[in-house]
Amino acid sequence: MLASRPSLADLAGQQWDLIVVGGGITGAGVLLEAARQGRKALLLEQRDFAWGTSSRSSKMVHGGLRYIAQGDVRLTRDALRERERLLRDLPGLVERATYLFPLRKGRFPGRWPMTAVLSLYDFLAGIRDHRFLSRKELLRRVPGLDDTGLSGAMSYTDALTDDCRLVIRCLLEAARVGGRSLNYARVTDTRREDGVTRVTVRDEVAGETGELSAPVVINATGAWANRLGANRSGEGGAETPRIRPLRGSHLFVDPARLPVDDCLTVMHPRDGRPVFVFPWEGVTCVGTTDLDHGDDLDLEASASGAEVDYLLELINGQFPGAGLTRDDVLSTMAGVRPVIASGDGKDPSKERRDHAVWEHDGLVTVSGGKLTTFRLIALDALAAAGLLDARTARRARRSNAPLFRPLPQAPSQVDRFLHAVQDDDALLRWVLENEAVVHLDDLLLRRTRLGLLRRDGGEGLAERLRALTGELLGWDETRWRQEWARYQDLRARFYGVPPAERAAA
Ligand SMILES: Cc1cc2nc3c(=O)[nH]c(=O)nc-3n(C[C@H](O)[C@H](O)[C@H](O)COP(=O)(O)OP(=O)(O)OC[C@H]3O[C@@H](n4cnc5c(N)ncnc54)[C@H](O)[C@@H]3O)c2cc1C
Repeated sequence: MLASRPSLADLAGQQWDLIVVGGGITGAGVLLEAARQGRKALLLEQRDFAWGTSSRSSKMVHGGLRYIAQGDVRLTRDALRERERLLRDLPGLVERATYLFPLRKGRFPGRWPMTAVLSLYDFLAGIRDHRFLSRKELLRRVPGLDDTGLSGAMSYTDALTDDCRLVIRCLLEAARVGGRSLNYARVTDTRREDGVTRVTVRDEVAGETGELSAPVVINATGAWANRLGANRSGEGGAETPRIRPLRGSHLFVDPARLPVDDCLTVMHPRDGRPVFVFPWEGVTCVGTTDLDHGDDLDLEASASGAEVDYLLELINGQFPGAGLTRDDVLSTMAGVRPVIASGDGKDPSKERRDHAVWEHDGLVTVSGGKLTTFRLIALDALAAAGLLDARTARRARRSNAPLFRPLPQAPSQVDRFLHAVQDDDALLRWVLENEAVVHLDDLLLRRTRLGLLRRDGGEGLAERLRALTGELLGWDETRWRQEWARYQDLRARFYGVPPAERAAA
């Protein structure tokens, strides 16, 4: 499906209606919608698909209670409708989950304001799925939760997914209708000439550089968006929005040490920020932090020691008997949110999360937004690029047609990835043969999450993986050793558990 890797010369020889730069959920959504509209479209990703923010989110397909609380009813309504559509179209990969919001005496929000907000939330989604849970019921479901001042909890539903699988699923679906995509293909320059936009591309696998062109190029590079447009600002065009990169980090915790069956929203004792503690792919996930990301965007984002301390402090505050330490953390994951800066130095958690689309001289840039609303973001970008007229875009927004169909010949786990046995032989084979795995880290950190979810980082599977990659990808002993060393290095540097720091997160 995504297996064959075309050369740049092959791609340059074809006439494209659209080139999409960036292989996260936004780019994948644009590719899918463009291909569905019959456009000849190509997506280029500098590293692996979903290497950026789209494999590092909180995995929630949700309306976002905080957006409704901030009065952003439209964003919430759109996201809830998309949530319901994804639950319908990708059962198993997008799964409904129970969320619990513990209530404490004298603390905001109380039971009735929460009931009002959740009634509106459910109404916008077209469901009725919230109720009050007594203190006793809550403590039965979440044993060990700090019971100080606890009066009960509001229970409601949202959904969880594996964000990277969702991106891959969009690319596979796009491939079915003719959309092409290439990972490890970095766009180093774009320029407008003779009515087309030319992009210079570096194929990091073949070690070649080439030039491709299309009437329209969509820049879907998320937190990197200002970089690609940068060489074209100051040419008299309208001022372009500025991306404020905000980092959010998660801990993957041994479920034996912190078992949870539901998604809990708990307030951090230090600053009162809401943080999620939820079951994901067989482990317990805790996050997120929210802070300005000043690190080099060419490096993978990683959690700092202070962020790990901050999240451990949360757990040990909310679960006083847990006594969690760094030893209980299997791995960490950090992502950089491409938030459109308001420019007034706001508290990171108060910046708005909606997307923006802007065009300058043949380069349409789309950035910001959410995983959940990728389809609507894609339609906005295609309309701004002139590839959808306003009427068709309106109709597509309202359309209830399925976006995904079952994949022929794929093992069922591909579409039911959550809670699936991820080291299943048939699944690994299918992924290696069909999902454009170039490096071992593509397989262990993204296509499957084995490297993050297992204490040994997948070491126990090494012999099997060596045999499978030899058989299916043609890796010899030297290549296997290089890949294993590369993966171990990346895992230790960017997904490990950094030591404590003195500064606060
Ligand atoms: C901590 C955190 C938690 C979140 N939780 C949620 C959540 O629970 N639910 C939700 O709906 N949303 C959530 N979000 C938001 C969501 O994850 C993002 O909005 C979304 O993933 C952004 O996708 P994207 O495709 O725009 O960017 P990305 O996924 O970053 O994709 C951009 C891609 O462009 C590539 N690229 C950059 N430059 C070039 C170049 N020159 N050439 C080729 N490729 C290039 C990058 O490598 C990258 O892969 C969260 C975000 C964060 C950070």
